[in-house]
Amino acid sequence: MYEHDVLIIGGGLAGLRAAVEVTRAGADVAVISKVHPVRSHSNAAQGGINAPLTDRGDDWEGHAYDTIKGSDFLADQDAVEIMSREAGEAVIELERMGVIFSRGEDGKLGTRRFGGQKKARTFFVGAITGSAMLHVLYEQALKLGLNVYEEWFVTKLIIEDGACRGVVALDLKTGELHTIKAKAVIMAAGGAGRVFEPSTNALICTGDGLGLAYQAGVPLMDMEMIQYHPTTLARTGILLSEAARGEGAHLLNANGERFMEKYAPDYMELASRDVVSRSEQTEINEGRGVDGNVLLDLRHLGREYIEQRLGYLQEVSVEFLGIDMAEQPVPVQPGMHYIMGGIKTNVDGATSIPGLYAAGECANVSVHGANRLGANSLLDTVVFGRRSGAHAVEYIKSVGDHARSEEDLTSEKTRIQGILDRPQGERAATVRDDLATGMTKGIGVFRDQASMEGALENLINVKKRLPSVSVENKGKIFNTDLMFALELEFMVECAEGVVGGALTRKESRGAHFRTDITERDDENWLKHTLVYKDESQEHGYRVETSPVTITQWEPVKRVY
Ligand SMILES: Cc1cc2nc3c(=O)[nH]c(=O)nc-3n(C[C@H](O)[C@H](O)[C@H](O)COP(=O)(O)OP(=O)(O)OC[C@H]3O[C@@H](n4cnc5c(N)ncnc54)[C@H](O)[C@@H]3O)c2cc1C
Repeated sequence: MYEHDVLIIGGGLAGLRAAVEVTRAGADVAVISKVHPVRSHSNAAQGGINAPLTDRGDDWEGHAYDTIKGSDFLADQDAVEIMSREAGEAVIELERMGVIFSRGEDGKLGTRRFGGQKKARTFFVGAITGSAMLHVLYEQALKLGLNVYEEWFVTKLIIEDGACRGVVALDLKTGELHTIKAKAVIMAAGGAGRVFEPSTNALICTGDGLGLAYQAGVPLMDMEMIQYHPTTLARTGILLSEAARGEGAHLLNANGERFMEKYAPDYMELASRDVVSRSEQTEINEGRGVDGNVLLDLRHLGREYIEQRLGYLQEVSVEFLGIDMAEQPVPVQPGMHYIMGGIKTNVDGATSIPGLYAAGECANVSVHGANRLGANSLLDTVVFGRRSGAHAVEYIKSVGDHARSEEDLTSEKTRIQGILDRPQGERAATVRDDLATGMTKGIGVFRDQASMEGALENLINVKKRLPSVSVENKGKIFNTDLMFALELEFMVECAEGVVGGALTRKESRGAHFRTDITERDDENWLKHTLVYKDESQEHGYRVETSPVTITQWEPVKRVY
């Protein structure tokens, strides 16, 4: 029998920051993660974390406004204010815990400028910012007494008397299913990048947390807001961090022109990501691309500078395309990178189900709106990870005993055995690929009614195929074949949220750019979309909307 005060699903930055907060309060906490915590996807974050530090003449209002403008005014401004106000303290705390941020010649923490921001306020650890933060938070949490279920896969949330009281999870090492009871659960299970193909995300980013919460009845908010990063390496989909443009790289078309002059004359390559990606795609679509790409040019920075400041990017470019960035521009294209939408929460991480919190990329507290600024995601994980931990600790004071029944364990055993017992059918990987390529085709950098309906049709078809997805490996130990089949079901739930939100929003805003309705429409669509699972509806979901919170910045035309 496993029981804790607080159970955190996810050992990435959001989960570990929440864990530190809960352990500091003296509560019994465990993190459960389908991979070892330091292999969580946060590990891949390269470029840095934003914070407006006042000792360099920056202020929280400046960061908040850049974030809100970047979000195309869809972010809830109360949430952004909290994030911007708490950012400085969060980064300084990380430094004191042991994150060795890179420093400038003057000995002060160094910064670089990221897109959509007026100031250089991105703090970084070389090109390994996420990894450095993750290792430090893991150490800190362990020191404080964190329990870890490592390589355990959550299959279902336990909801009893309307509140979340734990999970059912598969111990991947033994193949046994267990109940883990908790007075509160924090969902910090990361993003859903792999619902699209290609993606800069790791194979484990399958949106399990979004799927689990959606199945339990929590709405997914603004899921149509999919971020396509402007610089993914041609033919591979590997991310070349925004740090390259932050350090001064240019984007060129086939004629050698810095085409961003036409689209964002003030910010050029450092306009917000949705704007740069659309500009690139326009150049490519209008025949000024280079084999379906544009060129990222760093040559003017010089070899020494490139190797010192952007060594990792140079390595990737040489290794995968044989291109030396100091000698030749690198072909890049927009690639799916991040999902702004997620599990709807309030500013304390609380969802609509008592006892269920969410933080990090799986959550939508609404700080990114229709387009996230680079380096605001790591900030989101630590600020709202901390807040959800603090509030979960308060919440459990009012909770009595642990869950009573083991009903969910029994039904999950039957369901999973049912998957294992299926006669030979389709492989999960094939269906997953069809789902993800259909999503990219229909909900891309540019989209319209017909393309989005195509994505829905593809999704309906994939859903029909789900019951025939079979698992060849019938073994118990590390059955990744089974895990793929379970992940696929969560991916389908996420795709439903994306398609539902996209077909509902009848305007263009941020990353949701419709070629058939090109204008933003604040009168009718300054709203969030909320997709609920609802089997009584034709396609299994229903969509509602809710207002955007405006505190002090009225929406204006967004120009870079
Ligand atoms: C290549 C790349 C570079 C990036 N660079 C930056 C950057 O420089 N700055 C920035 O701000 N953002 C960056 N981002 C975005 C940022 O890294 C992520 O949004 C953020 O790290 C997500 O953290 P998280 O804690 O929410 O989730 P993750 O780190 O993805 O952790 C999710 C956790 O949930 C667990 N989990 C998932 N499903 C289950 C399940 N069913 N059962 C049990 N456990 C489960 C996983 O094992 C994992 O521990 C980058 C993203 C990519 C792809």
